[in-house]
Amino acid sequence: MCGIVGYIGHKEAYPILINGLKRLEYRGYDSAGIALINGETRTYKCKGKVSDLESFIGNQNIKGNIGMGHTRWATHGEPNDVNAHPHISLNGHFTVIHNGIIENYDVLKKDLIKNGYTFKSETDTEVLANLIEYIYLKDESVTVEMAVRLALTKVIGAYGILVAAKEDTNMLIAARKGSPLVIGVGDGEYFFASDATPIVEHTKSVIYLDDDHMAIVERNSLTLKTIQNDVLEPEVTQIDLDIESIEKGGYEHFMLKEIFEQPNAIKDTFRGRVSERNKRIYLGGLHQALPKINNAKRMIIIGCGTSWHAGLVGEYLLEEYARIPVEVEYASEFRYRNPIINEDDVVIAISQSGETADTLAAIKLAKEKGATVIGICNVVGSSIPRETHAGVYTHAGPEIGVASTKAFTAQVAVLTMMSLMLGKERGNTNDDIYLQMIKAISSVPDYITKILEQNEKIQEIALKYKDASNFLYLGRGVLFPVALEGALKLKEISYIHAEGYPAAEMKHGPIALIDDKMPVVVIATKDKSYEKIVSNIQEVKARKGVVIAIVTEGDHVIKHLADHVIEIPDHHEAIAPLLTVIPLQLMSYYIAVARGCNVDQPRNLAKSVTVE
Ligand code: GLU
Repeated sequence: MCGIVGYIGHKEAYPILINGLKRLEYRGYDSAGIALINGETRTYKCKGKVSDLESFIGNQNIKGNIGMGHTRWATHGEPNDVNAHPHISLNGHFTVIHNGIIENYDVLKKDLIKNGYTFKSETDTEVLANLIEYIYLKDESVTVEMAVRLALTKVIGAYGILVAAKEDTNMLIAARKGSPLVIGVGDGEYFFASDATPIVEHTKSVIYLDDDHMAIVERNSLTLKTIQNDVLEPEVTQIDLDIESIEKGGYEHFMLKEIFEQPNAIKDTFRGRVSERNKRIYLGGLHQALPKINNAKRMIIIGCGTSWHAGLVGEYLLEEYARIPVEVEYASEFRYRNPIINEDDVVIAISQSGETADTLAAIKLAKEKGATVIGICNVVGSSIPRETHAGVYTHAGPEIGVASTKAFTAQVAVLTMMSLMLGKERGNTNDDIYLQMIKAISSVPDYITKILEQNEKIQEIALKYKDASNFLYLGRGVLFPVALEGALKLKEISYIHAEGYPAAEMKHGPIALIDDKMPVVVIATKDKSYEKIVSNIQEVKARKGVVIAIVTEGDHVIKHLADHVIEIPDHHEAIAPLLTVIPLQLMSYYIAVARGCNVDQPRNLAKSVTVE
């Protein structure tokens, strides 16, 4: 959560920082702030969005070639002007911005209070700023860099920080543990950010900071160290990200753009991995771990939110085609119990950002127990790909809208490929099915394009039900997780209460909710449980519920039963999740827009959940 930007160089820092914050606003948007350093340090901060900060700053002094900016996702203390970052230490020696949580802030704060410190904000970040200052002032021989380092050794929790010091106004210190930080390397200048999106327009050369590492940066020098003071050689890598892909490109919202990008995003996910011509599916990223994967007795998929839903789809597909027993767990639950993990287990960790704190912690646990860990992530160079033994990038391109769309389909696309590849490797998928599936997979981008052509029709249906208070989503088998995902999308961006259920479970509870005001979205494409789901639709209609059905093209039976149908091209069952989720995404989008909600930045949410 939260976005950090920083700059040190010869250009004016303010435009770089404010544009950077706008690019990172998807990470947190309850307040924002900037510090500009020009011999002295000036800070501007306020509650609200980056645009509110811009108006607040207006034509005040924005001079300075060094600075830092922050867009917050509050964890400690409500979003207000005082709790906004940057935080300045009591005697003004240090200015700090922070992403993460200082878990032992309370103990540290009490100690500092005993030593005469007072606090303006309720944040854990101000505690860190004061701790650095306290260490610095207590002993004359302690330098600025030492004070930061020593303070960090006392901190428990997660942080990505930028620190500026009054005593050395030509230096910024960056450090990380658990929360991401990337440093862009320019010519006599350095850029700092929580991810590469604010950096690409300035430079493609970056250094990814690792956990427990810090960088002491001046205009022409960068020293990389561990917080134990061991000097390291920085590794500069080139990022492959262009500016167009992180802009809206004519769409009203990032979410709509990302929904419409799905045919190409999926093509990119398949590129070089699925070949109709060579009749082969191969995920090169798994190569190294393949002997272990092929001998795996069990797979455990971990993820949070939408990634967890993708994992549930993966469970069906891996069991069906690879015949490996699979369990799917919320990363946040998995890590806090005492899970039984064996050395011949394979753990698959799914995360769009590759920074999800709970998923990262669960990976560490699985590794400690000797399991092989595979990552499925979208953001190249993020923490999860660096923590795992092997992995597959989804290559969906940057996803900025907080509600995940193309990242979900790309994750499902990877799991579909993985199921078939492992099915073949383990001798559990015969050649006929394998070839059929390669054909089916290759048709996904065109089918999605056809579904997107029904955009206007879906919008019309959405507008009819924009004022509903509750929605129910039903699906069976591999489409049950799609029902969950449809409900989640609606909740996230329109704030309408929605639940996803396996259709057969409806009569064990949620049927009690159905009346003539309750829209029920039923994913009812032609598959082995088709007859059963037709009966479920009858049950809803018998109670006067409104049915919006996602059906296979040409389905006349459901057309007569349902209030609305949205047609999906006739397809192989295994690719149904990739197709049926598209109308659900569009419907949520249009309902949220019609309700006047901010779809790209829904309340209380943030894109990259780097808090546990
Ligand atoms: N824990 C800090 C706060 O509440 C930082 C939160 C963030 O990552 O935005 O201010």
